[in-house]
Amino acid sequence: MRQSQLFFKTQKDFPKDEVAVNAQLLIRGNFVEKLMAGVYSYLPLGWRVRQKIVRIIEEEMNALGSAEILMPALHPRSVWDATGRWEGMEKIMYQFKDHSGREVGLGPTHEEIMAVIGKTVIDSYADLPRTVYQIQTKYRDEPRAKSGLLRGREFTMKDLYSFHTDEASLAEFYEEAKKAYLKVFTRAGLKSYITEASGGDFTKEYSHEFMVETDAGEDETFLCRLCGFAQNKEISKLKAKSNCPKCQSGVIDKVKTVEVGNIFKLGTKFSEPVGFTYKDTQGKMIPVVMGSYGIGVDRLMGTVVEVHHDEKGIVWPESVAPFQVHLLQVGEATPELQQFGTNVYDELVRSGVEVLFDDRTRATTGEKFFDADLIGLPWRVVVSEKTMVQDKIELKRRNETNVKVMKLKECEKMFIE
Ligand code: ATP
Ligand code: MG
Repeated sequence: MRQSQLFFKTQKDFPKDEVAVNAQLLIRGNFVEKLMAGVYSYLPLGWRVRQKIVRIIEEEMNALGSAEILMPALHPRSVWDATGRWEGMEKIMYQFKDHSGREVGLGPTHEEIMAVIGKTVIDSYADLPRTVYQIQTKYRDEPRAKSGLLRGREFTMKDLYSFHTDEASLAEFYEEAKKAYLKVFTRAGLKSYITEASGGDFTKEYSHEFMVETDAGEDETFLCRLCGFAQNKEISKLKAKSNCPKCQSGVIDKVKTVEVGNIFKLGTKFSEPVGFTYKDTQGKMIPVVMGSYGIGVDRLMGTVVEVHHDEKGIVWPESVAPFQVHLLQVGEATPELQQFGTNVYDELVRSGVEVLFDDRTRATTGEKFFDADLIGLPWRVVVSEKTMVQDKIELKRRNETNVKVMKLKECEKMFIE
């Protein structure tokens, strides 16, 4: 993509009320734009990052044998009344009347809707287990939306639902889902800890949260770095500096974390109220056992920025970077240099590399370097008069300082590997 043609401009002024690092960097880098507290637009670079994250999630969910669906955001009250959550979620759910007086709400989550749909597909034990997921917009009237992408009022969640004949089948899938979740976060460049947490209004058992350590986090977690044992402070009886109850030899630290994912054993909490049952081998009607599994897509992106940045800007992991290479053409834009820059660009594109080409003729060299650090693509390639006369380019990784001068052919090999 040529930067001169991209709907894009790094921002000098950004909202003064944005205190979160992720929001500051993402807005200044023009990845997202804030419409109101907790509501953001994705601009071209941000959309590309989001798509990369979505792709990783889809690949791992598909590998679990789950199939993608899409449910509506607008829900009738009746579906929520079945479980009593229309009133239970009054504070967080956007609820209103339409012009004909019908009560409707914007979905903060989809367990109720899913159970109702499940009834249309699952009749007997032979139809189980099954699992489906969606990547869809959720609405929550969050009282504090000050953490940028970490806490939206409109946000995207990947929510997966699993259906089983019994608890044993659910437990089996639940463990597979844990592994898939760890893979998603690792692939996105994050180290996550599986944390025991309250089951909330879903289950008396623990649920499991996937926590990433960062000072931007709103949760507090007791963590043993030695064995990875972690408990959410809300439910924990542990104290900081105590011995780890799991491995005995590690020490428990209290750390700030972001909850990037949460998985729940729902049991029959949502199936029973709506009569979502299956016929067992004897023809008896049994409530379907369910699980639900969430990942915050925007929150994940915000967390990557919180973890991977320096004083100059974002340092994207390769897996989620909007482009792999930022090609900068610097110095006076003579026809020869523009041709040289274009040749390098075409050659990189031909070899399958995702390149953002800063071919702007009015930006200064300083501005180009400044923007490149802010946007944070993994590799920076510079072409200038100086490199052109040697038929070479300058190559630098975003997270390293040393610059290598080399032939384009040599450098291509590094991106393809
Ligand atoms: P929190 O405790 O942070 O408010 P939650 O426990 O209410 O989150 P869940 O209902 O478990 O959230 O939702 C599943 C996932 O969706 C969370 O693990 C998180 O990654 C994401 N998520 C939840 N609320 C938001 C939000 N307001 N903005 C962005 N992502 C969110
Ligand atoms: Mg949660």
